[in-house]
Amino acid sequence: KEELNIIQGALELRTKTVDDVLTPLSDCYMVCSDATLDFCTMSDMMQSGFTRIPVYENERSNIVDILFVKDLAFVDPDDCTPLKTITQFYKHPMHCVFNDTKLDVMLEEFKRGKSHLAVVQRVNSEGDGDPFYEVMGIVTLEDVIEEIIKSE
Ligand code: ATP
Ligand code: ATP
Repeated sequence: KEELNIIQGALELRTKTVDDVLTPLSDCYMVCSDATLDFCTMSDMMQSGFTRIPVYENERSNIVDILFVKDLAFVDPDDCTPLKTITQFYKHPMHCVFNDTKLDVMLEEFKRGKSHLAVVQRVNSEGDGDPFYEVMGIVTLEDVIEEIIKSE
């Protein structure tokens, strides 16, 4: 029954973690911080269909900002505005979480905070060097809700 699935899904929020539902970095639609907001770049962003676009510097694992597609509303593609002008104007706070965060905690954070997207990090202590934070991907409120209402 549908209701049982939803209850089951809700109960599993206590055991499942962000790892189980995140969108891996390789699948993320992102934009380089050096980008210019010309017609080509802007239409590509809009066609991606995503509302929030992580902005990276130099390499994809280095997310420095989140661009909202609605930030582009007053941008004229003919001006070829640097993306940095827009991100520095809006300065949306970037929310980071660890990969082992339980989904019930994640849901509370999404309810409390303003943003419905978080960047997922883990502590990488493999190898000889010092442990470092490694970006695994992104998680959104939708990913948590999906876990509750998924059928099967
Ligand atoms: P909204 O529904 O609020 O307009 P959206 O459709 O852009 O936003 P969500 O509904 O939050 O995105 O998420 C839908 C799925 O897409 C989730 O699995 C989420 O992890 C993923 N997602 C969100 N943004 C991106 C992105 N920039 N690149 C790749 N996947 C993304
Ligand atoms: P997003 O969070 O994906 O950027 P949003 O903030 O525009 O989208 P939602 O988060 O989907 O909107 O909805 C937030 C609340 O605002 C909901 O209660 C919704 O019913 C309401 N809402 C959404 N669009 C409108 C609108 N055009 N006029 C009035 N209320 C709206």
